[in-house]
Amino acid sequence: MKLRLESAPGRRDRMAALRRLRQCHPTGIALSQFHTSSHASAKQHYKMLVLGGGSGGISMSARMKRMFGAGNVAVVEPSEARILWLSKNLSLFQMHYYQPIWTLVGAGAKTLTSSGRSTASVMPSGVKWVKSKVQEINPDKNNVLTDDGTEISYEYLIVALGLQLHFEKDCQKDLNTQRLDQTTQSKLWGKLGKLCRTSKGNAVFTFPNTPVKCAGAPQKIMYLTDAYLRKTGKRAKANIIYNTSLPVLFGIKKYADSLWEIVKQRDLQINMRQNLIEVRADKQEAVFENLDKPGETKVFQVTVSQQKLFLPLHFSGKRDSSE
Ligand SMILES: Cc1cc2nc3c(=O)[nH]c(=O)nc-3n(C[C@H](O)[C@H](O)[C@H](O)COP(=O)(O)OP(=O)(O)OC[C@H]3O[C@@H](n4cnc5c(N)ncnc54)[C@H](O)[C@@H]3O)c2cc1C
Repeated sequence: MKLRLESAPGRRDRMAALRRLRQCHPTGIALSQFHTSSHASAKQHYKMLVLGGGSGGISMSARMKRMFGAGNVAVVEPSEARILWLSKNLSLFQMHYYQPIWTLVGAGAKTLTSSGRSTASVMPSGVKWVKSKVQEINPDKNNVLTDDGTEISYEYLIVALGLQLHFEKDCQKDLNTQRLDQTTQSKLWGKLGKLCRTSKGNAVFTFPNTPVKCAGAPQKIMYLTDAYLRKTGKRAKANIIYNTSLPVLFGIKKYADSLWEIVKQRDLQINMRQNLIEVRADKQEAVFENLDKPGETKVFQVTVSQQKLFLPLHFSGKRDSSE
């Protein structure tokens, strides 16, 4: 059976599972090792198998290493190969990105390079790094298959494969963009940073009509951009607009009340129930539909110099966890 990942367990379920694991295998008890070397078409076995070496997978593998011992834990993570020139030497890196920094990169508060590290440098020492892509999860057989034909069986499995972003589903008319890998996404945040620092006119930030990776990111980048423009004396030339699909500024009333004070003080324009449905790159226009009045649209002029810079409009990302 090929498992499709459609819903993730909630925090309470995850914590309960962790507690059960601790009861079974208290810290410090050594467990037998079953794994063999990582040749293609080989069979391997690990007590604890972690799929994905992003923020979730790496932090969980470090915890699992303490619980089970390094040799009993493996992480399956391909990462994309990146070739960099370092001190006149060509180096090949597997990159790991810390995505929450990207909002700060977008606002010019952090450098783009600070968001990426080699995967090797974040992989807990001694934990087996399987440099392949998971293709199939077979929970009934307790195994996974990777793209190089390796079968890896497990006793416990943690799935931390992240989310795929499908920008083409938002703006397919004008953006010749398919799935963006993390390197491309990080570069776009770098470009947004430059744009924020030079921009005048309308800056439109959006909260899409879908679940998103980080519900705070669209507002974070807006407040940071406002702060930057004020600091550099450019705020008077910019209109900052926040078009959100939600009927509230923030899901928790206590925080929403404070945020309403802030947006008033900072002269940020908030439009509720607005859903981005089209980007007209040639005219530098973004079209929004009123979710309470389907069919009613409003066009916003957006000040950007290049077509691809429209992407940050939606950059917190529609997600797709079904693959
Ligand atoms: C702009 C932005 C700002 C954010 N700000 C915050 C914030 O302030 N606070 C906060 O808590 N969160 C924030 N987030 C969300 C946070 O970054 C994510 O929740 C977090 O990165 C998710 O970690 P993850 O390990 O689940 O996924 P990821 O970090 O995306 O890692 C998934 C990994 O799985 C690997 N993978 C994918 N497919 C396969 C496969 N088939 N086989 C093997 N490996 C595979 C990928 O290569 C990747 O390394 C933000 C996100 C963004 C985009």
